[in-house]
Amino acid sequence: MKLSEVLAGKGRRVVTVSAKSSITDAIRTMQAEKVGAVLVPDSGECPVGIFTERDVVRMHADGDRDFDALTVESRMTCSVVVGKLSMTIDEALGLMTQRRFRHLPVLEDGKLVGLVSIGDLVKVKLEETAQEAQALRAYITS
Ligand code: AMP
Repeated sequence: MKLSEVLAGKGRRVVTVSAKSSITDAIRTMQAEKVGAVLVPDSGECPVGIFTERDVVRMHADGDRDFDALTVESRMTCSVVVGKLSMTIDEALGLMTQRRFRHLPVLEDGKLVGLVSIGDLVKVKLEETAQEAQALRAYITS
């Protein structure tokens, strides 16, 4: 299965915040939208940035805690690894596991068309596995 099919199921909406948003705003957006990452599409620093729960944990652990004053663009990851619609779930899972992140924005012709999390992909894999097991059971008992 490909990322295009995963996005067809979950939708293409991506939660974004502006580069000048405070860390507090980004945290509130993640909480309100029930997501673990926000994208920052309008930064002058890089074409697209990403800021995730992990970045909040790192900041807190480092004592970097002025969340109201600090901007997202000052703490986001700028060198974002992206996927494309034709990528398979296994390729995307391999990339995310190897690079140790759980969010993959999906671009097509240079445009952002969605974002998949490792949770989205594991859910689809589990559904696929259950369907295969069901088909095998039906085959064996028929
Ligand atoms: P995550 O596991 O997705 O919460 O992210 C772990 C770290 O990797 C954080 O510092 C994120 O900003 C960064 N990160 C998350 N997704 C990506 C991505 N697709 N490309 C580059 N860095 C990422």
